[in-house]
Amino acid sequence: MRTRTFTCLTIGLIGLLSAAPVHGAGEMKVGVGKVVITPKQDMWLAGYASRTRPSEGKLHDLYAKALALEDETGARTVLVTSDLIGVPAALVNDTANRAREKFQLPRERLMVTVSHTHTGPVLQDRLQHMYGLNETQTRLLEAYSKTLPDLFLQAIASALNDLQPCRVEWGVGRAGFAVNRRQYTPGGVINGANPIGPVDHDVPVMKISRADGSIKAVVHGYACHNTTLNLQKFSGDYAGFSQVYLEAKLPGATALFVCGCGGDANPLPRGTVEHAQKYGTELAEAVLAAARQPLTDLKGPIRAAFKEVSLALSPPPPRAEVEKQLQDSNVYVQRRAQLLLKTLHEKGALPTTYPYPVQAWQFADGMQMIALGGEVVVDYSLRLKYELGRERTWVIAYANDVCAYMPSLRVLREGGYEGAESMIYYGHHGPWAPAIEENIIGAVHELARPAKK
Ligand SMILES: [Zn+2]
Repeated sequence: MRTRTFTCLTIGLIGLLSAAPVHGAGEMKVGVGKVVITPKQDMWLAGYASRTRPSEGKLHDLYAKALALEDETGARTVLVTSDLIGVPAALVNDTANRAREKFQLPRERLMVTVSHTHTGPVLQDRLQHMYGLNETQTRLLEAYSKTLPDLFLQAIASALNDLQPCRVEWGVGRAGFAVNRRQYTPGGVINGANPIGPVDHDVPVMKISRADGSIKAVVHGYACHNTTLNLQKFSGDYAGFSQVYLEAKLPGATALFVCGCGGDANPLPRGTVEHAQKYGTELAEAVLAAARQPLTDLKGPIRAAFKEVSLALSPPPPRAEVEKQLQDSNVYVQRRAQLLLKTLHEKGALPTTYPYPVQAWQFADGMQMIALGGEVVVDYSLRLKYELGRERTWVIAYANDVCAYMPSLRVLREGGYEGAESMIYYGHHGPWAPAIEENIIGAVHELARPAKK
């Protein structure tokens, strides 16, 4: 059965509510905000279930950063980036509701993203159960998670208070360290290295310049896991180093990173701080090289759209099967069974669908940013750039909710970690239904502007 029930659809075409234009045709004002979000005390680090102790200090600070764009109609559109592993929908929705009240920011005009760093703190309700943490650690991560919406709102407020006329341009560079990690073996797909597997090496760059020509901000993206490091110190991994490098090279500028469809890509080889610095530098140099080339101007008005797609999961198992999993030899299957039984107790049934966020921002007759929730595999990026036009499309993942891996139909059929096993850690009862790819792509096409013929 195809499931295409859309639970929420909000499309905001700016200009509908506004009166006279506030700037000249196409002109934009831009503001940036930056807030340190490094936990004030050591706590459990996310990313790897095998960790045995909390963090021990930091390599560099973690940040939430905001970029606010005000177009000629006065409509404001805000991107939030963060050095975190993955924020759950509840946390983003709380932030969005408060941003609507406080700043009159419509839902479709707020995009909350994470870099997916694996050396950030564990967050509440997102992979939390995987770690089997004690009460002290649980209290710490819950208290920390509760501070995040406030920190995001602080960054947004700073950005909105910082608006000034700017030139906004974009272009695409290239960096080669992302490697497809789905290695095919006689025993199935393992998490290794697949040097001939698909990757997306584009480095989309948005350059924001003040009236005097100085650079105010650079937003850059890359489709690769932030998994260079698994040490016990807080860091933003390669994307943290890339932001530090860019801000050092461009005094007065704020660097923001968004992760692309790198669900099945790792930075390889990896494991040392030198690797993370090297990849951060490579990415930042790709950004600087792109920014030196002639770029394409981006103009307002910005059209924004957001919807939640009801994505079907595979049929839920009967209760008896879940109860049996409590005795499974795999401790993560046991922990998931406890979660599923809690859901059965509270709601009477396991979910058959998941409300999945899809968002699109379109600059006037120019580039469009497509933002997808979850750990999206590279097939989506390649397909969407093909279908919408690579020269006009920026695909962002890990946006608005990091709820699971999002396999393409190919990856779902092949199985392995991104296709099936990771659902255990995310607490879902089984894989996505085969309609996943067409449902997500279909939703993007509803919100996006078609490619130029
Ligand atoms: Zn991941």
